Order: sequence, then structure tokens, then C-alpha cells
Amino acid sequence: ALSVPDKQVESVCPFCGVGCQLTYNVKDNKIMYVEGRDGPANEKRLCVKGRYGFDYVHHPQRLTKPLIRREDAPKSGDFLMDPDNVMEIFREASWEEALEMAGGGLRKIRDEHGKKALAGFGSAKGSNEEAYLFQKLVRTGFGCNNVDHCTRLCHASSVVALLEGIGSGAVSNPVMDVAKAEVVILIGANPIVNHPVAASWIKNATKAGTKLIVMDPRRTDIARYAHRVLQFKPDMDVPLLNAMMNVIVTEGLVDKDFIASRTSGYEEIEKNVAEYTPEKMAPICGIDAETIRYVARLYATSKASMILWGMGISQHVHGTDNARCLIALSLMTGQIGKPGSGLHPLRGQNNVQGASDAGLIPMVYPDYQSVADAEIRSKFAKAWNVPEDSLDPNPGLTVVEIMHAIDRGEIRGMYVEGENPAMSDPDANHARHSLASLDLLVVQDIFLTETAYLADVILPASAFPEKDGTFTNTDRLVQMGRAAIDTPGEARQDLWIIQDIANKLGCGWDYKHVSEVFDEMRKTMPSIAGITWDRLEREHAVVYPCEKEGDPGDPVVFVDDFPTKTGRARFVPADIIPAAEQPDGEYPMVLITGRQLEHWHTGSMTRRASMLDALEPDPTAQIHPLDMAEMGIAPGDLVTIESRRGKVAMWARADEGTPRGAVFVAFAYYEAAINTLTNAALDPAAKIPEFKYCAVRVTPG
Ligand code: SF4
Repeated sequence: ALSVPDKQVESVCPFCGVGCQLTYNVKDNKIMYVEGRDGPANEKRLCVKGRYGFDYVHHPQRLTKPLIRREDAPKSGDFLMDPDNVMEIFREASWEEALEMAGGGLRKIRDEHGKKALAGFGSAKGSNEEAYLFQKLVRTGFGCNNVDHCTRLCHASSVVALLEGIGSGAVSNPVMDVAKAEVVILIGANPIVNHPVAASWIKNATKAGTKLIVMDPRRTDIARYAHRVLQFKPDMDVPLLNAMMNVIVTEGLVDKDFIASRTSGYEEIEKNVAEYTPEKMAPICGIDAETIRYVARLYATSKASMILWGMGISQHVHGTDNARCLIALSLMTGQIGKPGSGLHPLRGQNNVQGASDAGLIPMVYPDYQSVADAEIRSKFAKAWNVPEDSLDPNPGLTVVEIMHAIDRGEIRGMYVEGENPAMSDPDANHARHSLASLDLLVVQDIFLTETAYLADVILPASAFPEKDGTFTNTDRLVQMGRAAIDTPGEARQDLWIIQDIANKLGCGWDYKHVSEVFDEMRKTMPSIAGITWDRLEREHAVVYPCEKEGDPGDPVVFVDDFPTKTGRARFVPADIIPAAEQPDGEYPMVLITGRQLEHWHTGSMTRRASMLDALEPDPTAQIHPLDMAEMGIAPGDLVTIESRRGKVAMWARADEGTPRGAVFVAFAYYEAAINTLTNAALDPAAKIPEFKYCAVRVTPG
């Protein structure tokens, strides 16, 4: 019968960091339907994306042959993607020709212009093994550390603050721990949309008595489950959080024993928050003093309190400061290191945790080991069998910095695997022009993305259900992803394309199975040293840290000490730094960007998933109904949104949860690419751009 699958394959959802395990039901090399599996993070649940967002893999626009840009084809950052003119711009090529043009071309740039003339973006959608090989290729094949990925646009600031404060960038407790918490603060996150299954655990916890405090400038659906909702003014995180700390300090609610035995720098933070009284901060952050006092007391005095946060915290020029405040709150109250008590930055992509752990970032090798440390370089040189002095001791450039280095003529060639900076970078018109001006852009992807449209060589790669590999979710669970179907046409596995490019650059690799790459990772990454491939095959998921074979792994960490040099955590004070661009007479509104339930990031997969696209086919601007009335705009009207950097048109949608004076837009729509408007101003510590705040005007029509 048509409905009976001929094979069932156990794998992991390709979308968000919750990491739901699922079963692909396959017939004749086609995925028929998907079911939730009893994984540790999802217990059979799936959201609409996981359950219905799979048929993009069978979409007719899948890339099935290598493509090379025609010599006479125009190459410009001023473009609107047109899938119908692809063959006017590109011609089909053999793998041999495409790999020689890609790898050979990168080699030529390296040899003629120096190692730092190259850069690479890997992907948080790829496996741990792909991320590991990609960064190894950049460090040993290109010979520099110019390697980054979308963590730079996501939780880079959280990771900087966490590494500085508590010595580890990962979460202290799994999401499921909300069931053990008396109080949960959820700040700058919209989990019903972005982490739906995690949101279901939060909802369940509130039904069982956990008090949920939602803090966000936008009032989103999770507010219906909240004990208190603090809809503070956009950008005013630090005043609100410092005011809470002021209450905790002045009312003697700090955990003196914890501070004395496990932290340093408390005096500094006590002094810093003295000025931030709730009365002074109330008009600045828009939350009355009594509510600030109430939630501060509730958080500090509960037996177990947990803080979860998202991009609302991280994507600011003060993103690192925002996270520093959350860490300080947990440290001064001793709310960390116990079940139901800790810090959890909700990871976005399904493998952004693993890609970062695997070293797909410019300052550190796998497991956050500094490239600037001679001893560590020597260790990796041995592991990778390369001369010690061939490894660059200088941290590489980050995502936005790479675009500026292209403009200066310093970077001339790039290899982009599975990322779409032409849509996801801030000030995307600028990023598109930078990419278009490269001597050589190699893009490896499954569709002709907006970035691939600017490429010189396009390498057709594997979709998620077409490959084996491990993926690490937001809870630090390393999970096994398994191939369920074959790649279409001549498309190939990403891992082997990376190896072929590396060998064109003289790396001399000969990995034959993905497990060999994982085994090499274990040898260089103490946190996963105890996780064997066989165990992953058997158990499907193992949590790290897992340093020795047979270790069960630790879902809750920092129980006795912190992984810092002293074993102590460190308080770092923060003061108010305003957003880089403020509304004014010309651009009077604030633009907030983010995601929506049905679409994933730049939309390359979900907008080609038939059911998801049917649910949300068009770009919309969410505006408060009172603002709409003042502007003479009705729901469904066309509106133009304009910033100093770009202009897009879309349909207006009334949303009482959007604060007055602001407009919210998802960044999934190429025809209204909202990142052409966003500001590329960076957090100085983490180099994360300010996606959550820039000045725009909205006009009818
Ligand atoms: Fe996939 Fe995340 Fe939805 Fe789970 S919650 S099914 S991981 S998108």
C-alpha cells in the first residue's frame, strides 16, 4: 500500500536547538511522514516545523549538479533572486572542474595574496564532524583563523559573558529542569515560536506550580502562562536587571555563603548596582518599582530559580552586558549548580552548540581552547600532523569583520558552507556588495540561496536527512543524526566535499567514515572524550561533559566548582549603553527582527516546505493596532519600511504584543529581506550585531 513505509530511520530534527528526536518514514527514497521519538529533549513531541517541514528535501529547486558562473554573467550585490534565470547566470560543470575551480582557486589566492586573504563560513546546520573538518581546513589549509558561523549572529555575546563569568559557554541545566524550578525567568525569548517543544515543558511546569516571569519588550503568547509579565522598553535590559540586583543587595537577599566560597568580584557589583534603584530605573525601563521589587524577591528567595534567555538579550551592542547581568543575578543569589537552578541561553540552530564546541569560531580551537596559547597550538599541531609554526597564533576575523576586510581588499576568496549571509547579515545590502566583489566565492549548499546567487562556484550538497553525523542540542546532548534518503542527482555529502577542497589545498586527508572524524574530535576535546561512536549508535544521545568512557554525563553542572582557573565564578558589572541608532524625526520607529513559528531563519528550507509555506506565505510587519490607526494603515495593507540602509515592502499585521513605536519583522523572506535595513553596529566584546534595535519609518503603500 502507498501509505506503508519501506524503512524507518531514527534521527534528529534539523531546525531548532531543542533537538527533538524523530523517525523518518521513507518509501522509495522519499520521506512520507515524520514522527516524534522518545528522545530526552522531546519525549515524542514535535512542533509544526519538525512534523511537517521535511518536504523541502524533495523540492525541484534542489541543486543536483555543480554550477559555475558564466564568464559574461553580471555579478552584483544589487539583485533580486530570480530562480528562472539561473541557467543564464550559471552553467553546469563536472565535479572535477568545479572542485578544481573552487579548491584550486582558493589555493591560488592563498599562494599569491597570503593566508589571510581567505575566509570561511561553516554552518550550524551541519554536523559536528562537518564543523570540525571545516575549521581544520581553514586553520591548516587556508593557514589562518578567519572561520566563523551564525553563532556570531546568535549567542556570541552570551558565550563571551559565560566564558568570562563561569568558564563555560554552555547551559548549566537542561530545559526540562524548569519542572524542578519554583521560579523561572524567561527574558528576551519567544519559545512558543522559536523553541516550541521547550515551550511545552515551560507551560507544563507553570501548570504544576512553577512561577513564570516573562520579561520582553514584545508580549508574546507565552505571557498567557506567566505569573508576572514585564513588558519593558526595548533596549532597556541593563537598567531593569541592575534594578533587580539593587533590590536583592539592599534587602539582604544575597547568598553570602555562595558569594564567599564560590565567586570573586562581588564588591564591585554591589557598588555598581547601588545607583540603580527601582525608583530611578522605573521610568527608564518602563516597569514600576514595586513590580521590580516583587520579581527580584521572588527570584532570590525561591528554593530553585532558573533563567532562560534568547536573542532579545544577545543581539544588542550591549548583548555581553545583558548576559553579564543575568549571570550576576544567579551568582549573587546562589541560583546555579542545583537541579532547577541555573542559566540556560536557548540555542537557536539545531547544531549551533555543537558547531561552536567543534571550533567553528575564529578565536578558539575545538572545546574553546585559545588559538593564542602556544601550548594549545602545539597540542593541535601534533593532533593534526602539521608544523607548529604553520598554525596562526592570532584570532581570526568574525562574520561582519570579514565583510569589511573584503571591502579593504584584504580578503579575496571565501568558502561558504550552508550559510546565507546575503540574507542573514546585518545591513545585508552591504554584505551582498562585499560578497559580489570577491575574486572567488565558493558556496556549498542544497539550494541556490541568495548567497549562492553571488557565487563563482556552487557545490551541490546534502540535506539533513541525507547524512550521518552528530548534532549537539541546547542541553549539551550529543545526538546521532542518520541518513534516511540518498542525495539527489550528483549532489554529494558535505563532509566529503570539505575533504576534497582541503586536499586541493594540500591537506592530504583520507577520512573514510564519519566516525573517524568523530574519533579525532574526541582526542582533542576533553568535554566529549568519553563519548564513543558505538555508544551514540546504541543510546542515540549522550550529554557532555563526559570525559571518560562509561561516564553517564552531567546534565547539571557547576555543582561544586566552576571550570575557571580558580574554580570560582566572577561578577562583571555593567552600565547602560544605549543602542547604536536611536529613532528621530526622520526614522521615528524601532525595528525589531526575529523569527516566526512556521519559518526557519533565512527561509531557504521552510519556504520550500509546502505545508509551512502554505501557512505563512508572505512577509508581514507586526505593528501595534493603535500605531496602525494613527498611520492610517489597516491589517493586510501594503506598507513600506525604510531605514538609512534599505527599504522593503510587506503586508501589515495588527499585533497588540508589539510595543507602541516599534515594528517586528521576521527575516525569512527574500522578497522583503529585512536585514537590508538592520544596523551592523557590533557589541565590542562579542562582535554580535544589533539586530534587535534600529531606527526606521513605516509608511502606507
Ligand atoms: Fe524541531 Fe525545535 Fe520543533 Fe523540536 S521544537 S520539532 S527541534 S523545530
